[in-house]
Amino acid sequence: MKIENLPNEFKKARPVMQKIEDDGFEAYFVGGSVRDTILGLDIHDVDIATSAYPEEIKKIFTRTVDTGIEHGTVMVIHNKKGYEITTFRTESGYQDFRRPDKVEFVRSLAEDLKRRDFTINAFAMRENGEVTDLFDGLTDLKNHLIRAVGNPNERFHEDALRMMRAVRFASKLDFDIESDTLQAIKENSELLEKIAVERIYTEFVKMMMAKRPKQGILDMINTDMYKYVPEFASHRDELEEIAKMDELSLSDEIEVWSLLSSEFNLDRIEIMRFLKAWKASNDVIKSTEICTKAIEKLRDDTLDKWSMYETGKELLVKANHIAKMYGFDKPEDDLISQYDALPIKNKKEIVVNGGDLIGNGIVKPGPTLGKVLFELENGIVNGDILNEKAELIEAAKKIVKE
Ligand code: ATP
Ligand code: MG
Repeated sequence: MKIENLPNEFKKARPVMQKIEDDGFEAYFVGGSVRDTILGLDIHDVDIATSAYPEEIKKIFTRTVDTGIEHGTVMVIHNKKGYEITTFRTESGYQDFRRPDKVEFVRSLAEDLKRRDFTINAFAMRENGEVTDLFDGLTDLKNHLIRAVGNPNERFHEDALRMMRAVRFASKLDFDIESDTLQAIKENSELLEKIAVERIYTEFVKMMMAKRPKQGILDMINTDMYKYVPEFASHRDELEEIAKMDELSLSDEIEVWSLLSSEFNLDRIEIMRFLKAWKASNDVIKSTEICTKAIEKLRDDTLDKWSMYETGKELLVKANHIAKMYGFDKPEDDLISQYDALPIKNKKEIVVNGGDLIGNGIVKPGPTLGKVLFELENGIVNGDILNEKAELIEAAKKIVKE
């Protein structure tokens, strides 16, 4: 097969490829960008594989960066853009179900393609558009199948993350997992426990944000994989509920985790525990807590000015997006105009501060000060106090008296 009209991303990289070939080495586009191009999908980044060793690449190009030289990856800068170029390699060993004991650079493209996870991820394409397909990936693309390269059982023993990747690509492309591959996942799902949570996290979130997350969740349930990722084992029923939702479309990881937290009915402390188990960042945990709380308010119809203020616009829109999937959302325009109409959007906009109150002799430094400021903030947000200096000073005096 030869692709005639290469997308721009490939065209721009052609001179780089040609230069490698001029030096007598092979160079191919590999991985997801080739797959997505054959499918007619947009691509973002191109991966390049070569028979040249990293040192040889560095001799060919003047501007390079060692981005992952121990794995054979060198970045070549061409026309202000960086291209990751990775030497063909084989992997062997895999005694721990996740990482090869030995990585070896090789000159053979076939050896490199053999280590790749699925037939549709094992294409190589020359700069002129000629596609190499050693494992009949084109047929699998046509039949919408995710099939392991080689023996699926062995491949999942080498790296158990591939099971999660199978589910991710099935969701991304709206493909099915081929039956032998699926059977091997069922038999090996337990091996997921050996995999670093961070790697599972990435694949899981991508799966949920892709086209067909409901199928992804069903795949995780039917293969028992859900039992071997953090904190899902006791939530089978809720996961099934999510898989039954009419419309499930998540645009970022906060939405993913907030939907799960909501469906699992987790409170603030439980969300923290849940997401710590997934090794989420503190920012993600914080945002998920806030967003989940707002979803609850939308559900109970108790979303008032103060809770909109506390949530913030961005998370409010996300919460409403999830509420929509459940059918208890508010018209987004209304919600946004209500939010925009709040007198202040954060504490810093209050025209008096603690220093002013102390300076005017209204409050002494100490716990009362914090309380007074909080009541002012609350009063402003609810529209009971104007955010003007004289009025705030008067209001503060009254609060202190009470
Ligand atoms: P995406 O468009 O989502 O980035 P991708 O196919 O490029 O999809 P990557 O995770 O970026 O996926 O990996 C790039 C390529 O590296 C894959 O297409 C596959 O050939 C190979 N690969 C990645 N991870 C593995 C793995 N765990 N086992 C075997 N091959 C892998
Ligand atoms: Mg990729």
